[in-house]
Amino acid sequence: MVELLKGIAASDGVAVAKAYLLVQPDLSFKQNNVEDTAAEEKRLDDALAASSAELEKIRDKAAKSLGEEEAQVFDAHLMVLSDPEMIGQIKQHIQDNKVNAESSLKEVTDMYIGMFEAMDDNAYMQERAADIRDVTKRVMAHLLGVSLPDPSMIDEEVIVVAHDLTPSDTAQLDKNFVKAFVTDIGGRTSHSAIMARSLEIPAIVGTKEITSKAKEGDVLAVNGITGETIVNPTDEQAAEYKKAGEAYATQKAEWEKLKDAETVTADGKHFELAANIGTPKDLEGVHNNGAEAIGLYRTEFLYMDSSDFPTEDDQFEAYKAVLEGMGDKPVVVRTMDIGGDKELPYLTLPHEMNPFLGYRALRISLSELGDDMFRTQLRALLRASVHGNLRIMFPMVATLKEFRAAKKMFNEEKEKLVNEGVKVSDTIQVGIMIEIPAAAVLADKFAKEVDFFSIGTNDLIQYTMAADRMNERVSYLYQPYNPSILRLIKNVIDAAHAEGKWAGMCGEMAGDQTAVPLLMGMGLDEFSMSATSILRTRSLMKRLTTTDMAELAEKALKECDTMEEVEELVKEYVTVSYTHLRAHETRSNLV
Ligand code: PEP
Ligand code: MG
Repeated sequence: MVELLKGIAASDGVAVAKAYLLVQPDLSFKQNNVEDTAAEEKRLDDALAASSAELEKIRDKAAKSLGEEEAQVFDAHLMVLSDPEMIGQIKQHIQDNKVNAESSLKEVTDMYIGMFEAMDDNAYMQERAADIRDVTKRVMAHLLGVSLPDPSMIDEEVIVVAHDLTPSDTAQLDKNFVKAFVTDIGGRTSHSAIMARSLEIPAIVGTKEITSKAKEGDVLAVNGITGETIVNPTDEQAAEYKKAGEAYATQKAEWEKLKDAETVTADGKHFELAANIGTPKDLEGVHNNGAEAIGLYRTEFLYMDSSDFPTEDDQFEAYKAVLEGMGDKPVVVRTMDIGGDKELPYLTLPHEMNPFLGYRALRISLSELGDDMFRTQLRALLRASVHGNLRIMFPMVATLKEFRAAKKMFNEEKEKLVNEGVKVSDTIQVGIMIEIPAAAVLADKFAKEVDFFSIGTNDLIQYTMAADRMNERVSYLYQPYNPSILRLIKNVIDAAHAEGKWAGMCGEMAGDQTAVPLLMGMGLDEFSMSATSILRTRSLMKRLTTTDMAELAEKALKECDTMEEVEELVKEYVTVSYTHLRAHETRSNLV
């Protein structure tokens, strides 16, 4: 049946392909009594053998795409599968209790998991428990005759359909095969959406019901610009989507001509267009899109992509690669922002009711648990500083005391390194992200002590509006042009300038084509965005003058009461390219 679903346009582009459901299957079962225990043991052996074969394949693929070290986790899984003691106990359980393999598998593995988890101060034992849990799922799926989805094994063109995608699921998507993804939940600034934009995979999030509407093998037509998905489109609809895809490609080719052009307005003012990155691998996109700097390096991905804490040397190599890759262009590295939707498999954080309001980012770095991690990161950064133009910023700063404490640790590590005879740059700027309203309001005080501000609107908007950025039900409150947000931003920019400091923005708003004219008018110095948004922004800026934009911003701040009024006002001053306007309309329509 043809079905049209509307969601939040999260990453531009259009695709038509078969659906691949990344949905966990139902692994529930009944405990049955069995007479023929030998047959039941044979079922178990078959499931173990099938699981091993599958894991070998996954392991080989991971070794090729991610490297030997990353593939080792699968060796641990394979070892669990061939553990004679555990398997012997499962078989014994079948014989003693005359019950099916499913319940014996669960009984025995639960016992092992419980035992390892009880040793809760031992990370190695915690990992063993996680390995057994993972492997049990796979064996159970084989016993039940259902398959576990595995995004890393996709080898044909598909559109991934999921309830939600974690940043690590998203990182595994191979854009040669994954033509788009569509999810039930999420918002435009959830990290999977941000990653989709940097991977240039069209994406729609927050459809609420794609997983219940699309079945494996259905054809999907996805338009990441309008936020629309059609399940099983007619031939005409599929052709229409393909045509929209071609129009978008033509538009992109136009923008690409500006790769080596300067970012200057029609009246000759230069703005810095920078890129947000998550790993050194993103440098390719940074160069291909003509970025003038890196305005946000989200270092937590270094931690998330690894099976243990990255060492000081691992980090040093990554930071050095990015700094050298950028030559003398500025690179703003953000210290780790763990927590919220960014979890580390090897760091057990306390369960919290509100992780986005909880123990995360700098709060972890400044606590006893994070002290070592944070100092290791600072040392790696300081050592790398001689290889380029490094700037460091701290995430989630709420108070001046937090900034002072972090800066003190930075100075201590710097002094230690200098005393050890290690060369360290003397010109590292140290700034903060403005993403908590308290810091935005108190920007005049912060401006006296920091070297720069980078406004993190993804969080600043969620905290100002009290609307979870991951929750599609309140996504209408993601209102970058709401006058309240504009006032906070203006306050931050003015505070920086009053102290002779610069103010940038690294939240998604910086690349939003309706926001850019307003931000230019307010005097923002640096705009940092997904690399793929840079050229369209350069193209837009070239058409505008700073005098007109200053007038626009002043009017928006003085005369507008609502986000919609601001949007209307921007339209009077600027003809925004069709793609982005459509995306915004989709968002407002959700109200
Ligand atoms: C932000 O909050 O705007 C930001 C850039 O950081 P992140 O999206 O990683 O939270
Ligand atoms: Mg943030």
